[in-house]
Amino acid sequence: MGDILVIGSGVSGLSTAVLLQEAGLRVRIRTAAMSQATTSSVAAAIWYPYKAYPEDRVLAWGEKAFQVFDGMVDDPETGVILREGFELHREPAPDPWWMDAVPGVRRCEKEELPPGYRDGHAFTAPIIEMPVYLDHLLRRFTAAGGTVEERAVSSLDGASAGFRVVVNCAGLGAREISADDSMTPIRGQIVRVSNPGLDNFLLDEDGPDGVTYVIPRTEDCILGGTAEEGEWGTEPDPEIAAAIMRRCTELEPRLAGAEILGHRAGLRPGRPEVRLEAEILENGIPCVHNYGHGGSGVTLSWGCAEDAARLVWEALEKVG
Ligand SMILES: Cc1cc2nc3c(=O)[nH]c(=O)nc-3n(C[C@H](O)[C@H](O)[C@H](O)COP(=O)(O)OP(=O)(O)OC[C@H]3O[C@@H](n4cnc5c(N)ncnc54)[C@H](O)[C@@H]3O)c2cc1C
Repeated sequence: MGDILVIGSGVSGLSTAVLLQEAGLRVRIRTAAMSQATTSSVAAAIWYPYKAYPEDRVLAWGEKAFQVFDGMVDDPETGVILREGFELHREPAPDPWWMDAVPGVRRCEKEELPPGYRDGHAFTAPIIEMPVYLDHLLRRFTAAGGTVEERAVSSLDGASAGFRVVVNCAGLGAREISADDSMTPIRGQIVRVSNPGLDNFLLDEDGPDGVTYVIPRTEDCILGGTAEEGEWGTEPDPEIAAAIMRRCTELEPRLAGAEILGHRAGLRPGRPEVRLEAEILENGIPCVHNYGHGGSGVTLSWGCAEDAARLVWEALEKVG
């Protein structure tokens, strides 16, 4: 047993569990799927607020996470790198609403814009190689004494028995265990290709044929994408993959000869607002919810984990 039960081993569960365990609590993660089989492992993943709300809280959480990722780039074992890139627009666009969270955002020079684009913003952002990063978080957690159990939870009340506080980081799984009908999948599909020497990321959120992005990592590139609300399928669709390849190659012609290394699809945990709050379960045990991060779970992870950890400490003070 332990003090705290964290449900879920995606980026939300692991980040929260790391903070609590490293602060001296005894934390157990209970998870239906281990981290490499979660939505988190599919993420592209660039620091970029996308389909997560409300904006004011997203900005504060995102700013915190940006700073933490920035501090990780010197350690290659984290899988976090920094790259400059461009958010592109086909029409003149205002400054991005999240600009205050990111140092040095600037408007693109004309010659930086690919054909067909009339505006854009350049900025340097963390890119998080999720398979490496999730292993890093898990190592940090277990090195500090945390324990992990691979087992699905059918109810928060049942699972929390014997713990002082439970933390719900179940992503889309919160739809069942919290009976939260506002949770909806936002399906995303990506193609992983070899990196033909690209250094800059490219993002086109509003393309006429769908969201399009090119995220160069150290060895490969993640090409996306889709944002299909209400779609539950996790099998990659070959037609969608072909369309992603076509759009990304139009945007960055050097991708034309890139070798395809893999295909993946994942379900973003969509919710009208991120749920980050405490409640008392029917059995009297406090529960801190940290789920519903949409397309920004990585971008918000450390900010949300810090707030969730604060709520856990407050709950512990009350339960004694
Ligand atoms: C294609 C794609 C690209 C993306 N790109 C980005 C990006 O560039 N930047 C970014 O910030 N975000 C990105 N995202 C979004 C990001 O992946 C999610 O917001 C994030 O992974 C959510 O993390 P999570 O830990 O909350 O949920 P998940 O990763 O879904 O983890 C949920 C965990 O809860 C467990 N669980 C669920 N139900 C139960 C249960 N009943 N009992 C026990 N355990 C349970 C699961 O097994 C899992 O371990 C992308 C997503 C996709 C699909």
